[in-house]
Amino acid sequence: MEYEAVIGLEVHVQLKTESKMFTRAAYQYGDPPNTLTNPVVMGLPGTLPVMNKAAIEKTILVGLMLGCEIAEECKWDRKNYFYPDQPKNYQISQFDKPLCLGGKVEIELPGSSRNIMGTHRDVILTRIHLEEDVGKLTHFETESLVDYNRAGAALMELVTEPDMHNADEVFAFLTSLRMALIYGDISDCDMEKGQLRCDANISVRPKGSEKLGEKVELKNMNSISGVRNGVEYEIKRQTKALKNNERIVQETRRWNAESCYTISMRSKEEAHDYRYFPDPDLMPVKVSEEWRNKIAESKPEMPYDKQRRFFDQYDLPFTATSVICPDHKLSTYFEDAVKFHNNPKQIANFIANDLQRELSEAGVNGVLPLSDCKITPIQIAALVKLIDDGTISKQIGQDVFSKMFKSGEDPDTIIDRDGLRQSSDTGEIEKFCQEAIDNNPKPVAQYKEGKVNAINALKGQVMKATRGKANPALVDKTLRELLA
Ligand code: ADP
Ligand code: MG
Repeated sequence: MEYEAVIGLEVHVQLKTESKMFTRAAYQYGDPPNTLTNPVVMGLPGTLPVMNKAAIEKTILVGLMLGCEIAEECKWDRKNYFYPDQPKNYQISQFDKPLCLGGKVEIELPGSSRNIMGTHRDVILTRIHLEEDVGKLTHFETESLVDYNRAGAALMELVTEPDMHNADEVFAFLTSLRMALIYGDISDCDMEKGQLRCDANISVRPKGSEKLGEKVELKNMNSISGVRNGVEYEIKRQTKALKNNERIVQETRRWNAESCYTISMRSKEEAHDYRYFPDPDLMPVKVSEEWRNKIAESKPEMPYDKQRRFFDQYDLPFTATSVICPDHKLSTYFEDAVKFHNNPKQIANFIANDLQRELSEAGVNGVLPLSDCKITPIQIAALVKLIDDGTISKQIGQDVFSKMFKSGEDPDTIIDRDGLRQSSDTGEIEKFCQEAIDNNPKPVAQYKEGKVNAINALKGQVMKATRGKANPALVDKTLRELLA
């Protein structure tokens, strides 16, 4: 019997807002424990929640980006439970009337080679709602520590339909979603900081069966590849169990990333009854068409749409688009440069290769952000223009680029100061070509026997002797004439 996995995700995203969901207290990662609280966060008697408009607007923006239906009216509910990760004994969430309904996330599954775009499809969403985050507990052998800094932070929950079937699709989903959320400036989505968290619901059923199997909810993955590994393990575990005629029971399991296995945390019997009811302290939210349209104005072009446009409009290779398009700032940088000099391929080449390399070499903790790059789009365009009009060779252009990256100087300044202008002095070039021919009888003989590529060895000698400054096209022409 063949088996098929079915996977649905619940993704929590901390919104990049100045204050928490229902109070003015700020939240950012890494502050000393319990310093980002106030009486509302602590749920002291007499306090009242006040909605964070920016959080609602960011969530509507996500809904618009992902093609959701934006509810004309949504409401707030209390999810009641008794656990020290939150001080009020309930969490404010949205139960039956979420802010966004439906929608989809476009995913890309790897292509058959690095040079072509992979296959694309949409993963269907169920809903997106808003809630407040809870505090963080750290457990030790005999005691636990509580940090309420995170409690009350604006948290968006996105739920997918059971619409994925393997770990690669889950990986592609999270990669795509993360890219879109960073594009829209919704969240920085750093999983290590808990800004994006994902629970995976996994079941396995006989292939061809319509009925869903019993699902296992998998928790505690703290990177996108961690989710992939956890899902992959769990699919294998469940498939093996079914093949052995064992029953899968509905439960929550925990992924152990160090040792790569899942372990049961609690079974269905231990599941909570949250006694949801409307929060009497908060009014329902009405989203007018006018408000929605205003928010839609800041909707960014979606990453894969941009990639398709870059193929069509600029005729860029896949490898360049796959570096540039996932990064909103980098793609804007590219398009700004192209406005000043219309050679998109060469500009993309510098951005996808030289610039990326310089940024990663210059970074102390990881890659240097583009905002710290001293080269402006105008300067990169000017550099490519100097290559295109023959002022410098491509090879010299790369050295100039490195110097520009370090100093922020204009390419002209560097070229003049360092004497890098390409030589098109025919007399001088002829002298170097003749020298190369005299000193390298072997490639000369090979060329004369018909091995035309042997000329490259001679070209290399001339470029070396002129320290890259000879005009390569002229060198080629001169060598051919001298060897004819
Ligand atoms: P619960 O009530 O246990 O929270 P939901 O119906 O709300 O379950 O679904 C939660 C998540 O689990 C959703 O992403 C959904 O797509 C997924 N899901 C539900 N049933 C299954 C199943 N049998 N197999 C895989 N995923 C499932
Ligand atoms: Mg649910």
